[in-house]
Amino acid sequence: MTSTTERAAHAPLLSLDDARAQMLARVAPLPVETVALDVALGRVLAESIDSLLTLPPWDNSAMDGFAVRADDVEGAGDHHPIVLRVIGESAAGRSFSGEVEAGTAVRILTGAPMPNGADAVVPVEDTDAPMGAAALPETVRITASRPPGAHVRRVGSDLREGYPLLAAGTELAPAALAVAAAGGHAQLTVHRAPRVAILATGDELAPVGQPLAIDQIPDSNTVGLSAQARESGAEIRPLGIANDELDVVVARLQTALEWADVIVVSGGVSVGAHDVVKDAFAEIGSVDLWRVAVQPGKPLAFGSAKRVGGEGEVLLFGLPGNPVSSFVTFELFVRPILRRLSGHADVIGRDHVTAILSEPVSKSPGRRAFLRVHLDGGDDSGWTASLAGGQDSHVLSALAAANALAIVSEDDDSLPVGANVDVIRLR
Ligand code: AMP
Ligand code: MG
Repeated sequence: MTSTTERAAHAPLLSLDDARAQMLARVAPLPVETVALDVALGRVLAESIDSLLTLPPWDNSAMDGFAVRADDVEGAGDHHPIVLRVIGESAAGRSFSGEVEAGTAVRILTGAPMPNGADAVVPVEDTDAPMGAAALPETVRITASRPPGAHVRRVGSDLREGYPLLAAGTELAPAALAVAAAGGHAQLTVHRAPRVAILATGDELAPVGQPLAIDQIPDSNTVGLSAQARESGAEIRPLGIANDELDVVVARLQTALEWADVIVVSGGVSVGAHDVVKDAFAEIGSVDLWRVAVQPGKPLAFGSAKRVGGEGEVLLFGLPGNPVSSFVTFELFVRPILRRLSGHADVIGRDHVTAILSEPVSKSPGRRAFLRVHLDGGDDSGWTASLAGGQDSHVLSALAAANALAIVSEDDDSLPVGANVDVIRLR
């Protein structure tokens, strides 16, 4: 063992909260940039915006039918049809420029501007006009009364020019992007997306899809961690697989020190003879924190290196190689960092519910456990959490079957069936 690893082996076990607070204290939201809407999905808005437009820009029809004067159709019914003269059509994008005078109507299509003089729409179903007919009828029999304003979407009933549209800090989900477009914005000022480089370490790893030699397994962590980083709003760059050799890992890390904000390494972070990641971090920068009281995932290294060709530092995460450990430690530590860099105020960004355990569980004392569970129910009967499969940290199938993580406190080493647990919903 080298000195870094030796010293680290005796590092105290940090609590999850302390470790996460120390990590978060190191980061602030990334600088802002202006981007087109089509690349803004998932970004966080850096400045509040007002609507540049009023929408609808004019009163328009909510139905296909006939624009009328409500006074004209008052008292109309199946047995008292009222006949109006049809003087034209208002279609979306092709409005009617005349005036609806007493005794007349204009055929109108959904979204089309209300013609002057008309103040209500009679749906086509309440007339004798055939639906969707191309030729304009000369007259129309109205068989239902409509009050003023019926089926009319009022000007400005959605957006008003100069009024707040989206607040700074909003995550740009599909609907937020659509409303920005509707409000006249073609681009938005957002925080830059964090750049995450991902390196797998282990002599036993083969790229996914390649034939496996004896002693080899697929590198599933690069796939899982890349997806987690993307889901947390990051751009990713895979650095491939490095052998368990110090200079190989160092060389691979160095390739990302110019581009990345964060480098995530999986495997090789414990105290085994081939665990070189902490030494690699020490060689390119420093190991600032190691070993956290969580289960799975106790061996976890956090450090930093000077950015090459720029200001500031690149954060380094060494996550344990077991696939469930790498997933859970990413969720607990890397995701909040990426969310803060992305500009989120809520760095955790997960819902919690209280659920009832459907079976007894046990875990290591002194560490906060995150059990892979399936959460069911949620209606009047409340939530139930059942183990999604084996809880060893190599059991990826249980993680894939889980939709939530149930938290068991440091102070408990077991919980009985029926106990209340705090559960993090993953999806
Ligand atoms: P380590 O943290 O390097 O001691 O690895 C712990 C366990 O995780 C070993 O069984 C490794 O084979 C496995 N492992 C490490 N890296 C990966 C990876 N990228 N994909 C899948 N399994 C891995
Ligand atoms: Mg290894």
